[in-house]
Amino acid sequence: MRYISTRGQAPARDFADVLLAGLAEDGGLFMPETWPHFGPSDWRGMRGLPYPELAARVMQPFMGSAIPYDVLRTICHEAYAGFGHTAIVPLIQLETNLFAQELFHGPTLAFKDMAMQVLGRLFDYVLTKRDRRVTIVGATSGDTGSAAIEACAWRDRVDIMILHPHERTSMVQRRQMTTVLAPNVGNVAVQGTFDDCQDLVKAMFADVPFRNEMRLSAVNSINWARIAAQIPYYVAAALALGAPERDIAFSVPTGNFGNVLAAWAARRMGLPVARLIVGSNRNDILTRFLASNDMSMVPVEPSLSPSMDIQVSSNFERLLFELLDRDADKTRDTMLDFRATGRMRVADPIWHRVRGLFHGFRLDDPGTEAEIRRLHAATGYLADPHTAIGIAAARALPCAGGVPTVAMATAHPAKFPDAMERATGQRPALPPRMADLFEREERFAVLPNDLTAVETAVRALVGRN
Ligand SMILES: *Cc1c(COP(=O)(O)O)cnc(C)c1O
Repeated sequence: MRYISTRGQAPARDFADVLLAGLAEDGGLFMPETWPHFGPSDWRGMRGLPYPELAARVMQPFMGSAIPYDVLRTICHEAYAGFGHTAIVPLIQLETNLFAQELFHGPTLAFKDMAMQVLGRLFDYVLTKRDRRVTIVGATSGDTGSAAIEACAWRDRVDIMILHPHERTSMVQRRQMTTVLAPNVGNVAVQGTFDDCQDLVKAMFADVPFRNEMRLSAVNSINWARIAAQIPYYVAAALALGAPERDIAFSVPTGNFGNVLAAWAARRMGLPVARLIVGSNRNDILTRFLASNDMSMVPVEPSLSPSMDIQVSSNFERLLFELLDRDADKTRDTMLDFRATGRMRVADPIWHRVRGLFHGFRLDDPGTEAEIRRLHAATGYLADPHTAIGIAAARALPCAGGVPTVAMATAHPAKFPDAMERATGQRPALPPRMADLFEREERFAVLPNDLTAVETAVRALVGRN
């Protein structure tokens, strides 16, 4: 399988190159040159498989010869072995045609683990084969950093340094990063904001001698491998609920558009997906686009669902590329114009086509809290604020004809104890395997918002032997 850039000015690459590169050199995102397709008998043949086996089968066509199938199977088994639920992605029925699929049983209790646990192992395999090492640097306001650290800790070929804003993350979030005491993991608390952390990471990448010396890399949400590793759970839910003989709808709490794009990809590969619901909080650029064909950037405002507090949904470029019939020149022009003006419109026929499949739903913080309370009273189920938006969206937009909707449960409620307590009077407990999180030893450096200080810390981590 080869990959091409959505902006058409980068050479085609294989899966291993795409994994290591992340972004294409022309600023575009990598897409598979052709879409793999599964027919009804292929889907039926996957029914009832253990999740790691299903995941390997669904991902295999994207890897081609870059990752041998037996290696991929082993990676999938190892990636999900540490999950806190034997079903890995259990389906919970909430109403007659409404289900939640829990994607939060991984080490950091959020859905990013579903892909990151696979990604860390893929990195190790490819880097070992090429006899290379990389240093992953990233900035986090919470979830992504901890998922990346859990995925890279103890890997042979990777060092990872994550910057977080000092005393501006939740205790759970900080401890999920700083209590991972692997020798290849570094944490820096920057005396500044999340934006300062992001600027420091950008400055490290812009410092070319430093970037080359440290072989810097990233595992951000535009990496194709992350999308590929998110497709299998949509397949698992659909098969469990009767596909390919029965249609299915998904409701996805959305930030960077990576999770819902994976659902779209599953449909593109032949899964009978009738509808995709995009849930947002007050940061509603996508729902505004679906309502009025106007994607315009506005400043981010904090909400109860911080992982959806975004200004731009970077993976939307991949859908745009498909909507424009893979015309890379048009995609590039549209994206450059969007960056320059802060606004995007697509041609009316295209917008109507998008609306034939995607439905938007926005919920503010009081609405989110009310939905958590309502759901708990009606069913006893505790949904975190992100998940609650997806569930409310699915209830607001039911499908006709008994098509079931599966709402993606993206975070464990124990990650948001304050919001849960306000809504329900209950503080959800951390799962038993994490109950001692607050007693574990922490390791992190507090550093000033200063490039030299941070680069020195990265050098020390990489040169520790
Ligand atoms: C990252 C995240 C999201 C948003 O997912 P995208 O792929 O960025 O759309 C939603 N919920 C939680 C809990 C997350 O961590």
